[in-house]
Amino acid sequence: MKIQTDASTKTGEPLQVKPGMMKSLIFHGNEKISLDDRPIPKPGPGEAVIKVTLTTICGTDVHIVKGEYPVRLGLTLGHEAVGRIHEIGSAINGYKVGDRVLVGAITPCGQCNYCLGGSLSQCGGVMGGWKLGNTMDGVQAQYALIPYAQANMARIPDELTDEQVILLADIASTGLSASESAQVKIGDSVAVFAEGPIGLCATAGAKLRGAGQIFAIDSNPVRLEKALNMGAHHAINVSQQDPIEEILRLTGRRGVDVAIEALGQQETFENALRVLRPGGTLSSLGVYSGKLAIPLQPFAAGLGDHKIVTTLCPGGKERMRRMMELVLHHRIDLTSLLTHKFTFDKIVEAYTLFSKQSDGVLKVSVRVAR
Ligand SMILES: [Zn+2]
Ligand SMILES: [Zn+2]
Repeated sequence: MKIQTDASTKTGEPLQVKPGMMKSLIFHGNEKISLDDRPIPKPGPGEAVIKVTLTTICGTDVHIVKGEYPVRLGLTLGHEAVGRIHEIGSAINGYKVGDRVLVGAITPCGQCNYCLGGSLSQCGGVMGGWKLGNTMDGVQAQYALIPYAQANMARIPDELTDEQVILLADIASTGLSASESAQVKIGDSVAVFAEGPIGLCATAGAKLRGAGQIFAIDSNPVRLEKALNMGAHHAINVSQQDPIEEILRLTGRRGVDVAIEALGQQETFENALRVLRPGGTLSSLGVYSGKLAIPLQPFAAGLGDHKIVTTLCPGGKERMRRMMELVLHHRIDLTSLLTHKFTFDKIVEAYTLFSKQSDGVLKVSVRVAR
């Protein structure tokens, strides 16, 4: 039997599913993922189910697939979704079936002590705001259950396409937060270490916050070129130049006010510290593994008044609304980061391309439905 789940689904190969079932990208263990049949979820109180129209793949998803971040077997992956409301559970107000919504990667409850204390991403405990594709089934599926839907479904303005908003769910919210957490002031100098998708968004964020000089540091000339488009003034290729010497030279030996780490490695963390002025802020977005050591000399043996701040992607519908304001009013445009487009039936191929970082890929869009 061949069923199109929606008459308007015209992308790619029609996926064959039985009534009440859907296709989901399932994690089966190290390097094993497949598109499997799963029942379409039913929303309980406070929940909603969206029909996913567009999703993307995150570096974190790749870590999961490689076995570097543990999740349960059989989990549906993915935490970035645009969709239309398919079914609404009880105790949800102000939404109707068919509404187009953006759901953040982080879906806080909005009611626990952490949330009410302002730490939405740490909802219920450390990293607890990250539920989708982590502690519950994610959104790389034809339908997805959204927890605490009242707090997490941000209505998308009609003027904006799915492609214009999909990257706001995670990398833009994360990237922009680096300068917010560091409280970048007008005229601050900012260095961004590593210009992957999150670093590029961090570069855009430094510009939005009114930074003066912005330095982009990477080894990939294409990414450095992109960083200049996102607002950087100096592109420093670490395979040709010593980034520390170059930044100290360009700041008159003063160092930068804010150094953003957007890779999660000892070397970039250390370099960020080495270019930071006394009293400056190291804003860390990277996910580290193993051990992270602080070198004493650039840390002034602990007496340099340095601040080190870390941020997990801010989520919730108000954050998403603000992110969409930036796109709606032409303050940021992230569509050029979507370098490769796939349809949902090809999502496993999309994972392969994205995880190998082949063909100059930055981010992929995966079209699930129209
Ligand atoms: Zn992510
Ligand atoms: Zn909470």
